[in-house]
Amino acid sequence: MDIPAIEGGAPVRDTKIFYGHQYIDEADVEAVCRVLRSEALTCGPMITELEKRLCALTGAKYAVACSNGTAALHMACQAAGVWQCAQDQPEDRPGEVITTPITFAASANCALYCGAKPVFADICDHTYNLDPAEAEKKITSATKAIVVVDFTGQAAELDRFRELCTKHKLVLIEDAAHSIGTAYKGTMVGNIADMTTFSFHPVKTVTGGEGGAVLTNNEEYYRKLLLYRTHGITRDETLMEHASEGPWYYEQLTLAYNYRMTDIQAALVCSQLDKLEQFGRRRKEIVKRYDEAFLQIPELSVQKEIPESDTVRHLYILRIRPEKLKIDRKQFFAAMAAENIQCNVHYIPVYRHPFYEHLGYRRGICPKAEKLYEEIMSLPLYYSMTDQDVEDVIAAVRKITAFYRK
Ligand SMILES: *Cc1c(COP(=O)(O)O)cnc(C)c1O
Repeated sequence: MDIPAIEGGAPVRDTKIFYGHQYIDEADVEAVCRVLRSEALTCGPMITELEKRLCALTGAKYAVACSNGTAALHMACQAAGVWQCAQDQPEDRPGEVITTPITFAASANCALYCGAKPVFADICDHTYNLDPAEAEKKITSATKAIVVVDFTGQAAELDRFRELCTKHKLVLIEDAAHSIGTAYKGTMVGNIADMTTFSFHPVKTVTGGEGGAVLTNNEEYYRKLLLYRTHGITRDETLMEHASEGPWYYEQLTLAYNYRMTDIQAALVCSQLDKLEQFGRRRKEIVKRYDEAFLQIPELSVQKEIPESDTVRHLYILRIRPEKLKIDRKQFFAAMAAENIQCNVHYIPVYRHPFYEHLGYRRGICPKAEKLYEEIMSLPLYYSMTDQDVEDVIAAVRKITAFYRK
């Protein structure tokens, strides 16, 4: 039997690979340089171009590019008015926003930014996405919105969430930071929820260095998002409270932030979108190869795909079955690192962070999410992985499971 590197054997490879990496080609570099040589570094034509491209990609009516995915979530929550209770409630009772704990903290922080309360509902044990039945149990008269996350890129059960939101008059916000390019029942993510948010961070499928966007089909949300992107300021005379005092005149109508994206970033995202199909195809190939290999290893569980989702996967989750192994996740993770495969863990359940503990959230709220967290690591998955990289990852997983199997 092969000896794992952590036990003194030879590692499966000599150079380290990481769980994610951006892919930048000459066309991307050119696109950025063109902006640098142009007049507008921000608020220019590339922002309009990116917004058009996102609408064309998804079929959504409106897109608002912004500084990052977190800002996108914040603006979506502002536009949804999440701090207000849904029904007749005392003014001082905060609105509630239901979300999953298996996500990046921003999916819940966005509610807190607005003075609303994040409420965590448990996941489905097989898809790792928010379970609609668990979400429904958490709906109260204060619930205002559901922030559903397409974890790893797989669409959440959007029909079920749509039904819940219609029935209880809630706003459906889809955090699609992982799922650009994914379709649900043939409709692209971005054209399904009331508002959908993207992130263009370098580990995501398409990058702008930093960047984000909100997509919607609702004109009222769109108008609000435009205001919230830029300090609550408007130059649109039809929105102004006073008569215009001259060509310089603008009005601040509400309090908001500077969440603008630069044209430099927008040009990079546009150029990356040219490659989305090719990115998606390669990611699907790698996922298929991983799934084939890992379905044959009884010490592992493979994330279940719902047939409704045609998924461009952002993350590949390896889940161990600790009852069948002599080592736990932490030791497995270390064994992978010794093979020169640097995994990551997505995610620490949000409410387990000290900040959330100090707010009064306790362990045990979502047992399935907590169990998942104990058993997972994210394997390398990115466009520029070679077939050999993929085989190295599989070889390392096979070697480690074989050596430590009970
Ligand atoms: C990356 C990410 C975000 C935040 O996006 P940024 O662009 O980094 O602000 C939000 N939600 C999820 C699920 C993410 O993965």
